[in-house]
Amino acid sequence: MIIGVPKEIKNNENRVALTPAGVAELAKYNHTIYVQAEAGAGSGFPDEAYVAAGARILPDIESVYEKAEMIVKVKEPIESEYKLIRQHQLVFTYFHFASSQSLTQAMLESKAVCLAYETVEKADRSLPLLVPMSEVAGRMAVQEGAKYLEKPQQGRGILLGGVPGVKPANVLVLGGGIVGTQAAKMAAGLGANVTLMDISLPRLRYLADIMPANVTTMMSNEYNIRDQIRYADLIVGAVLIPGAKAPHLVTRDMLKDMKPGTVLVDVAVDQGGCIETCQPTTHENPTYVIDHVVHYCVANMPGAVPYTSTLALTNATLPYTLQLANKGWVRACQENEELKKGLNVVHGQVVYQGVAEAFDLPF
Ligand code: NAD
Repeated sequence: MIIGVPKEIKNNENRVALTPAGVAELAKYNHTIYVQAEAGAGSGFPDEAYVAAGARILPDIESVYEKAEMIVKVKEPIESEYKLIRQHQLVFTYFHFASSQSLTQAMLESKAVCLAYETVEKADRSLPLLVPMSEVAGRMAVQEGAKYLEKPQQGRGILLGGVPGVKPANVLVLGGGIVGTQAAKMAAGLGANVTLMDISLPRLRYLADIMPANVTTMMSNEYNIRDQIRYADLIVGAVLIPGAKAPHLVTRDMLKDMKPGTVLVDVAVDQGGCIETCQPTTHENPTYVIDHVVHYCVANMPGAVPYTSTLALTNATLPYTLQLANKGWVRACQENEELKKGLNVVHGQVVYQGVAEAFDLPF
């Protein structure tokens, strides 16, 4: 198959959909891989590394789309790319259709085949192509939290791990899923005193089993949250209710009970945030302060660490990319139910219920 890897053009997007290692893997099966010049530069992969792995470099995005039967990308196509996508072309990327009617309409009109990373789903209902980014965001939440706890960043001026003779910081993590587990592990590894809350008792049992001794698990409810925020130096918001807005577990009135300089990192910002005073921010201007409490609410946290994020994402996507390339999308989806769940728009038809419902389209 002829595979095309365009350079991402969304603002500040430095990830790339295929690494030189991925190119080498695809080349083993005699696929032809075209990579746009500089596509991997933001993630630390120069054009020469792609060429050495067996790819051919094309100078511009138009020629990549023109030549490729399958496009592999990271972010959803933006308006300037709509017209480049053509009938029968397979596009494998994050789409998040339900949040953009114009993208959905454009892909319907293109008559392309749109396979969305975010809806590829395993039998246990987990989402294997979203997990890596949650892992990155969870780990980053603690790194960013530690930074903004520094005094020059308006934080409390406390070191997460303390030092011998000085007690460590208290970290409260709301939600013990992928993000919360990674955040708790990172904070615990730095020596902080961690409280990890979830509403699922089986999940809390599991977490209590696997977490180090400086992580305490606790049932998530308003009483416990109100109690714990008084001691917390860093609070990480990591809850998710699938298909719904995040519940406001930390309300505006709770800020006054926190210590001045407490840092809130609301990773759930992309679902509206689980901290009521959370407003989406960017890497250029990541924080703001309300009632002496520092808020960090960056909606695309993994974007700040493209090297790690690209490798984490492509580790997860490559096995699926290989199946699509080796078998073609029809057979690959017939033989793999996980991939089939990724189909959202096929030849002018919405084939994913959530997208059809979002815009009242036939399904
Ligand atoms: P997940 O489904 O693995 O975990 C969510 C957890 O929240 C579950 O264990 C669930 O039981 C728990 N939960 C639900 N309601 C709760 C409550 N009231 N109190 C405490 N816990 C509760 O989800 P995840 O992959 O960890 O993702 C968490 C959030 O992070 C999502 O909103 C996701 O979109 C977001 N995210 C953001 C970024 C970013 O860059 N900002 C990156 C990746 C993921």
